[in-house]
Amino acid sequence: MSEFIPPAKPIIGDDEREAVDRVLRSGMVAQGPEVAAFEQEFSAFFVPGRPSVAVNSGTAGLHLGLLAAGVGPGDEVIVPSFTFAATGNSVALTGATPVFVDIEPETFTLDPQAVAAAITPKTKGILPVHLYGHPARMRELEQLTAERGVALYEDAAQAHGASLDGRPVGSFGEFAMFSLYPTKNMTSGEGGMVTTATDEIARQVKLLRNQGMERQYENEVIGFNARMTDIHAAIGRVQLTKVGTWTKIRQENAAFLDANLHGVVVPPVADGAVHVYHQYTVRVPEDRDGFVAALKNEHNVGAGVYYPIPNHRLPSLAHFAPGLDLPETERAAREVVSLPVHPSLSQGDLDRIVAAVNTVAGAGA
Ligand SMILES: *Cc1c(COP(=O)(O)O)cnc(C)c1O
Repeated sequence: MSEFIPPAKPIIGDDEREAVDRVLRSGMVAQGPEVAAFEQEFSAFFVPGRPSVAVNSGTAGLHLGLLAAGVGPGDEVIVPSFTFAATGNSVALTGATPVFVDIEPETFTLDPQAVAAAITPKTKGILPVHLYGHPARMRELEQLTAERGVALYEDAAQAHGASLDGRPVGSFGEFAMFSLYPTKNMTSGEGGMVTTATDEIARQVKLLRNQGMERQYENEVIGFNARMTDIHAAIGRVQLTKVGTWTKIRQENAAFLDANLHGVVVPPVADGAVHVYHQYTVRVPEDRDGFVAALKNEHNVGAGVYYPIPNHRLPSLAHFAPGLDLPETERAAREVVSLPVHPSLSQGDLDRIVAAVNTVAGAGA
């Protein structure tokens, strides 16, 4: 059988290796000038005009962003349940309550009407996820948060470079988090970047990542060690010079799949949205698990299911949502399959993915 096509593939080249070597040879490897340069360059590339603060993971970025925005015990934060567990976890880690709300079926992102219905006097903010690289319904959510006097945050872990009406994700919320985990659209090994609406929130995130210190040994607040190393920042800086090209290739791969797949529901793109295809996610309404197994076993094509168990039913988070029923979330968890769309795919790989999907879907798997 032909070679396995993996569902994701980080691209690490000689440039990244040389950048790491440069830092290692300098003898200064912890947070320093590479991190500062990476923050500047990240802002300039993705969210011009907003400060960026680098941390050691996307999850830390969400946690610290929420703390910096004043979220804590007694507060509620509205989140989707159809997302990676880090979204709900980060809210719970602040001591606040994650309030899980349903998604709308086209973009798999928070349903603004369901959000409106879930707002209570305890609601501090709303944390939409730009899932799979498609922007959430920010027009409606921005209006809603303004009307109801609650804050807007962003989980942009999967959405580097996505935009809505010409506005980049990461520029809507009080803060936004971008993950730099290896399978994301760009990586620093591990890492996260927090973009903020104000210098004051950026300052708070910086304090929280470094034991609450701005000046050494004058600790202002109780903080963490969530610093990024210069080794990781050096990798991220190189990746930043390539991610624009990689995103274009993801979009071209997605366009090819859109035009050639049959028998599955291809991912729609909302009006005014730029999708960056962290995942290319189709719906398979009948026997999704059989479909994934057939792709792998009969065609050697890897596919992923993100996410088979919604946050509100995870053993770790279910106590926040006893008896909650989220029908579109459940349907998505049953039906979604993410096909390879990453920039390492050759035309031969794309042809094989199309042939495999059309064969398996045509056979009524
Ligand atoms: C990856 C991811 C995170 C967490 O990022 P890490 O860098 O892995 O900590 C949070 N939210 C979503 C939606 C993600 O995909």
